[in-house]
Amino acid sequence: MSEFRKASRINAIEVSEILQIGARAAALKAQGRPVIVLGAGEPDFDTPDAIKQAAVEAIWSGETKYTALGGTPALKQAISKKFQRDHGLVYTPDEIIVSTGAKQVLYNAFMASLEPGDEVIVPAPYWTSYVDIIALAGGRPVPVPCGAETGFRMTADQLAQALTPRTRWVLFNSPSNPSGAAYLAADYAPLLEVLLQLPDVWVMADDMYEHITYAGFEFATPAAVEPRLRSRCLTINGVSKAYAMTGWRIGYAGGPAALIKAMAVIQGQSTSCASSVSQAAAVAALNGSQEILDQRRASFQARRDLVVEGLNAIDGISCPRPEGAFYTFASCAGVLGRQTLQGRTLETDADFCAYVLEHYDVAMVPGRAFGLSPYFRISYATSEAELREALARLAQAVEQLR
Ligand code: PLP
Repeated sequence: MSEFRKASRINAIEVSEILQIGARAAALKAQGRPVIVLGAGEPDFDTPDAIKQAAVEAIWSGETKYTALGGTPALKQAISKKFQRDHGLVYTPDEIIVSTGAKQVLYNAFMASLEPGDEVIVPAPYWTSYVDIIALAGGRPVPVPCGAETGFRMTADQLAQALTPRTRWVLFNSPSNPSGAAYLAADYAPLLEVLLQLPDVWVMADDMYEHITYAGFEFATPAAVEPRLRSRCLTINGVSKAYAMTGWRIGYAGGPAALIKAMAVIQGQSTSCASSVSQAAAVAALNGSQEILDQRRASFQARRDLVVEGLNAIDGISCPRPEGAFYTFASCAGVLGRQTLQGRTLETDADFCAYVLEHYDVAMVPGRAFGLSPYFRISYATSEAELREALARLAQAVEQLR
């Protein structure tokens, strides 16, 4: 019997630490342990009824066939309206692509643009998929550590230092998974000023969490902040997080027609088009009442405050208040070096998270998985009752250290 030989391109990709922690948490649960998993990357709400209804109607009216590769005319029109409504950005249908999730948008973009060894500047902490997709596409991720001291935002100096003649893209994700930090227009401006001087460097903005920002935060996106960069900007968004539609798998982007066309070539040989039924649902999401976004934002904000206050009350933990998304990214620097009751010294954020999971049944993801230590990510897209219980266990876990 011959053994399976995997392609070498996979070697660049490690098994995700998030998946490993999820598997460990599931194993503990299967043993009957009351594990609380604070790892979810999706809202705990259901998709709104009006969106579901639009999908049902699409099924019964026969929208069950392949669609145009880059998206249905109706969805492209809804996306075009959305970009104009929210940012005054004008994208024509040939400047828009619809994909199977924003993840596929990213995959298309990097596959369509990177030559071997091309560099992509990725501020850390980053969503782990970025570096893996860049590596799969043959590129080189260049992480730039951006800690709590700069609000998890990259500064113009940091950017200038990371740029090389091989830099092809600078990737922004605001609000960020995992830090929840977001860039105001004034935060972007000096960075975009640097990039204006470099015509070969393109800007990718992952605005996936645009609609989840708090307390009047003014969301901004690079193509609108600096219109002179629009011709080399890819603005990525989707319906997954805003409308609780992670399972529908619809993401989209606006950008220069030549880039969008190249991305469509990649998509044409992987999934063709996104699901016809999901596209109809996304039209309803983007064209329908946006009131639901405010209700959900308020609910997330209350939970953010609960978690930030709970974490900061623990000696050794410090957590900045995130501007958006549904994650906190707290420092555990103050507990490192302490010893557990079992006699183990906690040396890294991964040690800390493993200790809390094994002895206090709370699953969190160490900053290491997102390229920045010593921190840990909590997703608060779960019930307040569960969050309170998790915070109590975390406080107890830290109290027991010496
Ligand atoms: N971008 C960020 C920052 C995310 O956190 C995620 C999902 O976790 C995505 C993109 C992908 O979203 P989608 O469900 O549209 O593929």
